[in-house]
Amino acid sequence: MTDLTRLTAAELAEKIHRREVSSVEVTQAHLDRIGQVDDFVHAFLHVDAEGALAAAKAVDESIGDGASPVSPLAGVPLALKDVLTTRGVPTTCGSKTLEGWLPPYDATVTRRLREAGVPILGKTNMDEFAMGSSTENSAYGPTHNPWDHSRIPGGSGGGSAASVAAFEAPLAIGTDTGGSIRQPGAVTGTVGVKPTYGGVSRYGLVAFSSSLDQAGPCARTVLDAALLHEVIAGHDPMDSTSIDAPVPPVVAAARAGLRGDLTGVKIGVVSEFSGEGYQGGVLRSFEGAVAQLRELGAEVVEVSCPNFVYALPAYYLIAPSECSSNLARFDAMRYGLRVADDGAHSAEEVMSLTREAGFGPEVKRRIMLGTYALSSGYYDAYYGSAQKVRTLIARDFDAAFEQVDVLVSPTTPTTAFKLGERVDDPLAMYLSDICSIPANLAGNAAMSVPSGLSDEDGLPVGLQIMAPALADDRLYRVGAAYEAARGSILDRLPELKGVSA
Ligand code: GLN
Repeated sequence: MTDLTRLTAAELAEKIHRREVSSVEVTQAHLDRIGQVDDFVHAFLHVDAEGALAAAKAVDESIGDGASPVSPLAGVPLALKDVLTTRGVPTTCGSKTLEGWLPPYDATVTRRLREAGVPILGKTNMDEFAMGSSTENSAYGPTHNPWDHSRIPGGSGGGSAASVAAFEAPLAIGTDTGGSIRQPGAVTGTVGVKPTYGGVSRYGLVAFSSSLDQAGPCARTVLDAALLHEVIAGHDPMDSTSIDAPVPPVVAAARAGLRGDLTGVKIGVVSEFSGEGYQGGVLRSFEGAVAQLRELGAEVVEVSCPNFVYALPAYYLIAPSECSSNLARFDAMRYGLRVADDGAHSAEEVMSLTREAGFGPEVKRRIMLGTYALSSGYYDAYYGSAQKVRTLIARDFDAAFEQVDVLVSPTTPTTAFKLGERVDDPLAMYLSDICSIPANLAGNAAMSVPSGLSDEDGLPVGLQIMAPALADDRLYRVGAAYEAARGSILDRLPELKGVSA
């Protein structure tokens, strides 16, 4: 009997819609897999077996009645990052502050998934409030990389990427403010996409940095990511930054890409993303990917984006500034944790003691950085300058996209590092996102697709593809063509320890 957890989302959907297998069976198979391996991986903060099976049953019943499936992914289960609200189901954002909080409403992404008949297996682990690159900032303990238990799964969406890599879920949702979908994708050998800013609604996505946050798909194949992208994307009047334009035809583009011909496509290699700090194994994997793209018929040229080197410092002013404002809402009055509520303390003391107890060190660091950058006398020098750099980066992209259709680079400068290796060195941690941040600052679309295993340490490496805003379909065409030529790497995932065969 086929192991249902090994099939792609597209294959599962086909089997469910032809009634060769039920959604309940598929969902149960993934819940069983979670039961077997998640003590080892720790991708999930909360598993909602009851809710997932009820959603699966509803899909099976509607298909049994002869109705056509409500969406191309109807019946295919998914894991949801714990930063998106789920009505009546815990949403912690990886923080003690929100422990035990049951949101009274669904995020738009959650609602669209429910309406599309996608059973939600549970909520995945993440760095607290999505701040981090390793999932070690979760208040509930880190997630482990399925390729090597001693290494990080990336962050902040390490749980989503790891759940997909470990075959606990065929699909997951992540969110990407500076790289939190793509970097975990790269280091776990999975596909991760940050859609165009405004392409997917932020309503119910607990805000870290509102001008950068964007939800998107995590999957094992480019086509699966495209199918999920189309389910969650589209205009939402509940989010004022949501784009009122047709969703780019990402599924058609992925299918076109799978035919393996990139003739007529012009690809730019970003010259700034190599050199010091990049592992040899990552650079060689990237060169191999570029050669493969040429073989597929693409024309490849080198493109300079001189301001990209300032993206990281600009991001670490803009994102903390927005975070310091957004996280002011956790004031011990409205949501979650409240300590020292004993009548002996003033409201201000309760607030301050609660924030002291509820937030971890990285969140506090960001709030302090952001408050400082926004303070009177420093605002122009820090926040104001960072916004100017942001404009320059967007102009670099505009100039590049006059010459080429997409840009490529490694997704991350290194493969998965060891758990604990960078926790005491915030700058080293921040450098994980050096290649991914420009696309967030400009609001462009970007994808990470596996480019094989490093010849140095045998760990996954990601190829990043970047496209102009609202041209997300280009990512899928190029990504699918490349993936078809390169082949899957997840069939080389080592057997997970502690898992009985
Ligand atoms: N690692 C980056 C940070 O810590 C990006 C996080 C994200 O994309 N949510 O801010």
